[in-house]
Amino acid sequence: MPEYRPKRLRVLGQYYSIIPVPGLSDPPEQALATVECSERRIKYEPNLDEEVLKEALFHEIIHIGERMLSLEEDYITEDQVMKIAGIVFSILRDNPTLTTWILKEEEEE
Ligand SMILES: [Zn+2]
Repeated sequence: MPEYRPKRLRVLGQYYSIIPVPGLSDPPEQALATVECSERRIKYEPNLDEEVLKEALFHEIIHIGERMLSLEEDYITEDQVMKIAGIVFSILRDNPTLTTWILKEEEEE
């Protein structure tokens, strides 16, 4: 398993454990990753193509944000979560200097 996969993430001030669960996506129609907000953990199928895994984790991160900010369950639809995750992920991936710039501004305040 690649060393650089994150084992913990901070989302809106809360830490979430990132836990590999071999066989999570068996049978194949199961999700590649799931989030348990009350336990503050994301489980993922580790035997995935790295790019597929990144997108699956990003999807779950958007779910965390959605659930932390909304009072209702499923305030935004699964389709909307997929779109938001895809947009944010592609922006970050295509603009590595964006994150650097954002962090640099924070440091200088
Ligand atoms: Zn989802």
